[in-house]
Amino acid sequence: MEQVEQDPDFVTLSRQFKATAMELISVLEQKQKTGGRIKVLLETLPLHKLADIFVASFEMSLEEQLSMLDSVDPKIRLSKATELVDRHLQSIRVAEKITQKVEGQLSKSQKEFLLRQQMRAIKEELGDNDDDEDDLAALERKMQSAGMPSNIWKHAQRELRRLKKMPPQQPGYNSSRVYLELLADLPWQKASEEQELDLKAAKDRLDCDHYGLSKVKQRIIEYLAVRKLKPDARGPVLCFVGPPGVGKTSLASSIAAALGRKFVRISLGGVKDEADIRGHRRTYIGSMPGRLIDGLKRVAVCNPVMLLDEIDKTGSDVRGDPASALLEVLDPEQNKSFNDHYLNVPYDLSKVIFVATANRVQPIPPPLLDRMEVIELPGYTAEEKLRIAMQHLIPRVLDQHGLNSEYLQIPEAMVKLVIQRYTREAGVRNLERNLAALARAAAVRVAEQEQAVSVSKDVHKLASPLLDNRLAEGAEMEMEVLPMGVNNNEISTAFKISSRLVVDEAMLEKILGVIIPHKLFSFIWMFT
Ligand code: ADP
Repeated sequence: MEQVEQDPDFVTLSRQFKATAMELISVLEQKQKTGGRIKVLLETLPLHKLADIFVASFEMSLEEQLSMLDSVDPKIRLSKATELVDRHLQSIRVAEKITQKVEGQLSKSQKEFLLRQQMRAIKEELGDNDDDEDDLAALERKMQSAGMPSNIWKHAQRELRRLKKMPPQQPGYNSSRVYLELLADLPWQKASEEQELDLKAAKDRLDCDHYGLSKVKQRIIEYLAVRKLKPDARGPVLCFVGPPGVGKTSLASSIAAALGRKFVRISLGGVKDEADIRGHRRTYIGSMPGRLIDGLKRVAVCNPVMLLDEIDKTGSDVRGDPASALLEVLDPEQNKSFNDHYLNVPYDLSKVIFVATANRVQPIPPPLLDRMEVIELPGYTAEEKLRIAMQHLIPRVLDQHGLNSEYLQIPEAMVKLVIQRYTREAGVRNLERNLAALARAAAVRVAEQEQAVSVSKDVHKLASPLLDNRLAEGAEMEMEVLPMGVNNNEISTAFKISSRLVVDEAMLEKILGVIIPHKLFSFIWMFT
């Protein structure tokens, strides 16, 4: 051994081994604090024992161990040991590189999250927490004041805790936030103050809003009377059935006004997906609550009058049956804990007053029909339409267009003509639309006249002394002297006399169009 230690080749080899081993020790030293001892060992051990002692502490395969044992020549042993140590060093380096890379990616978002938390803490310390960062705190405050039942409050708090732990970039942060916002926005307890129901006032209101319909009004008054005597009575759900434009929606809104409650309309026409009523589960991308919960959020009270419009137009297909979901909604036994898939907690719908409308009874599934009381509105006769138009539609249309009877007069005979020639419907919606067209035409004329009056003022202002003289002398107005910037047309309209527009047959034809031949024929056919 002494001999071999003198060998220059062996000395070089051992130096190389020492260098590699030292490197490995320094790498390991960062992880374990035991490196110092090994370093001392490396310095003090006789060179020929170095390889054996070092290599013994490595994990290696059986073949490698055998080949180590096999090599008797110290030089070969040392070079094999160097190779082993080097390999070990390389593998540690590669592993380190990979972990560094992964840590780098992870820590970027974690660092951001940490910094944000720190920033929040600093702001809180400074009492300077009025910006967006604090919207989670604002959300929490909103949730606290939402008046949730205790079990739902617990559920919401759990979700909020999860949200607080999430960094804002994490997928799911936003959906969780939107969900909590909905929980906070829903009217869990907030109700519109129910006034003492005055049946006389309710009757007056119904009479004031609607002409005729005495039986329907009578039934509504009975319904209201029962509610007055027993506010939590589980009365039937009223369902107004009739053609379009007979006043189904407006009757429902009159009920809401009579009860002093808010009114919300949910359109069910064309709804084929059960999720439209019950919402999508939150696991779906873009999931949202059903229309009922959405309507309640919009109206922001838990006891509105909710109109389920066009309940006969719901259909069923592979996506489920909305009618069966509606069954649960309308059943007073079940709607205490209505389960919206998105909301995922029960919501009490029992304070909502439901009213439904439909065009026909036949398409409504029998179990659903069973839960409702059908009130038929068959449509109006021509005489009824005339009365409705004169008493309700014309004043309303004029008001909507900023006019009054001083500007536009629609004589009864002309309304009759509109009913006979231009509308053929059970309701009065087209009639209202045609009257609105007349009002629009009148509005254009009135607006033009107002402009003309202002132009005429300008004319006086701009008029030259010559024009003034002529006016003073009472001379005939001529277009001789034209003030600059006022054209011929403006001058001519400037002296029009404003007058009330009375609708006549010619005007009807001009505004509503020439009566269409097939309509005319069927009209003639009707009376022959
Ligand atoms: P529906 O819901 O049956 O389709 P709406 O309630 O929307 O019809 O009524 C259409 C319009 O006709 C509304 O402006 C409504 O006020 C008016 N209307 C319908 N029936 C009457 C009536 N009997 N008296 C006064 N206005 C009526």
